[in-house]
Amino acid sequence: MRLDPHSFADSGQPQTRSIDLELRADFGARVLEGEVALHFRSPGAGPLDLDTRDLSVRAVSALDGTPLRHELSAPEPILGARLRVELPAGSRGVRIRYATSPAATALQWLDPSQTTGKQPFLYSQSQPIHARSLAPLQDTPRVRVIVGSARFTVPSRLRALMAAAARGREPGSGDEAVDTFEMPQPVPPYLLAFAVGDLSSRQLSSRCAVWAEPALADAAAAEFAQVEDMLRAAEKLFGPYEWDRYDVLVMPPSFPYGGMENPRLTFVTPSILAGDRSLVNVIAHELAHAWTGNLVSNASANDFWLNEGFTVYAERRILESLHGREASELHATAGLHDLQVSLERFAARPELTRLRTDLRGVDPDEAYSTVPYEKGYLLLRRLEETAGRPAWDEFLRDYLGTFRFQSITTQDFLEFLEARLPGLAARARALEFVDAPGLPPDAPLPRSLRAEQLRRGETDPANPTELLVFLQGLAPDSVDLRELDARFGLSSRRSLELRHTFVLLQLRAGAPEAVDSARRVLLETGRMRYLRPLYTDLSRRHPEAARRIYEEARGGYHAIARSMVESVLKEQGALR
Ligand SMILES: [Zn+2]
Repeated sequence: MRLDPHSFADSGQPQTRSIDLELRADFGARVLEGEVALHFRSPGAGPLDLDTRDLSVRAVSALDGTPLRHELSAPEPILGARLRVELPAGSRGVRIRYATSPAATALQWLDPSQTTGKQPFLYSQSQPIHARSLAPLQDTPRVRVIVGSARFTVPSRLRALMAAAARGREPGSGDEAVDTFEMPQPVPPYLLAFAVGDLSSRQLSSRCAVWAEPALADAAAAEFAQVEDMLRAAEKLFGPYEWDRYDVLVMPPSFPYGGMENPRLTFVTPSILAGDRSLVNVIAHELAHAWTGNLVSNASANDFWLNEGFTVYAERRILESLHGREASELHATAGLHDLQVSLERFAARPELTRLRTDLRGVDPDEAYSTVPYEKGYLLLRRLEETAGRPAWDEFLRDYLGTFRFQSITTQDFLEFLEARLPGLAARARALEFVDAPGLPPDAPLPRSLRAEQLRRGETDPANPTELLVFLQGLAPDSVDLRELDARFGLSSRRSLELRHTFVLLQLRAGAPEAVDSARRVLLETGRMRYLRPLYTDLSRRHPEAARRIYEEARGGYHAIARSMVESVLKEQGALR
């Protein structure tokens, strides 16, 4: 039986327990070449189905080198190509020699011109189903793996980092070196991650550091100085941190997400280096994933809200314990705005606004939105408010302890909730959030006094988050945008959170400088949070400009972002 709608992995076949990875990065050809060994939980026989996408499979053998019969099927559009290996009796694992494709969807190879230090850069993004373009494996969170050994051969002037424990550098041949790692905690394949670049670090505490290109390292260390405080606040709420180190890697601007919770080594967009620590809630979010998402993971993309709804909830609890309730409510207010935008976007596909989804035949990247984040948050908030905080906090620690290092479904969560807090789900009408589209009319509303005062015009924004909430509440035709810009310096802000919100107002008001302002943001970042709304609005009003700007910018976007932007442009008729 298939374990996951987005994987060929089969429950009747041997399951991988650990992998060894040996790869050489060829920056000229833009390929990784090498070998993966999959070691099974227990010996097995018969067919073994692995996920692959765009891989050149060179040889398949038993662990001792005996060649094995295998067949690579024709690729399916969402899943990729199934690699079926015929295992003889008593097989303990397989060894596969292969190479990735320059078009591998998990990888982005950057030209020196696309980084601050003008050095080549390579990074991976495996979530949701891109690990299969890095290596043939059972690419479902149902099959957690440890990494016995990972070895990356890279140009010696660069350095490989992996979301794993570093085990040192060995000399390679010529001007190459081998960076080695292991990952003792079992993780879903979507958390396999690495980057190669000219990177240096600044220590933030005994267990936290930030990595970045040398020119950005000091600014990053200043921006993220609070990481250890956040980690301690999270441990107080959710129990001990189980991953030893917590490091942060600042990615090049093309990184498609705000952050990715790769274990031990969060990847973050440089767009959160606002200079004023106003966007470090992204770090609180990624760090919270160490419990919600990485320790207890969704079983498949159908249960994505278990990762993201819980993590937004945890993020705001961390913010509340560090900065107080008003600050976390202000963030929740901004989050509710994002949720309303997403619900509008899916007006024609309401089934994608349920928390428990059925994504058979749907690309999880296409279903991606803030709905599992913010609607999931509102459900958990409702459960907290119904149960009372002490009972709810006890439940949370119990939940995280019971399912640690497992991958579970929404049903598993609901059954555990019923067993521990009988009747709570019914009293909170949890299933209206879980299985019905949209938002229940009586969903909890964040209560920020400052947000209310700002919207009534009784006060001026006193910090960047307040300014954001203020801008989100403006109707484009009711304000003098030039005056607004002069007052808050919006078009020259470093924070893209603020600048893109202002550009959206300019676009909607038909301001003559709107296209130019949009172009500047779209060339500056590859973060989808900004690309999606800007391309949507731009292509609606200026389809030709949208197409032209995309042509100019696409080389700086990750494959996941390119396919998102192209689908936006096609929807608006700006691209055929
Ligand atoms: Zn997240």
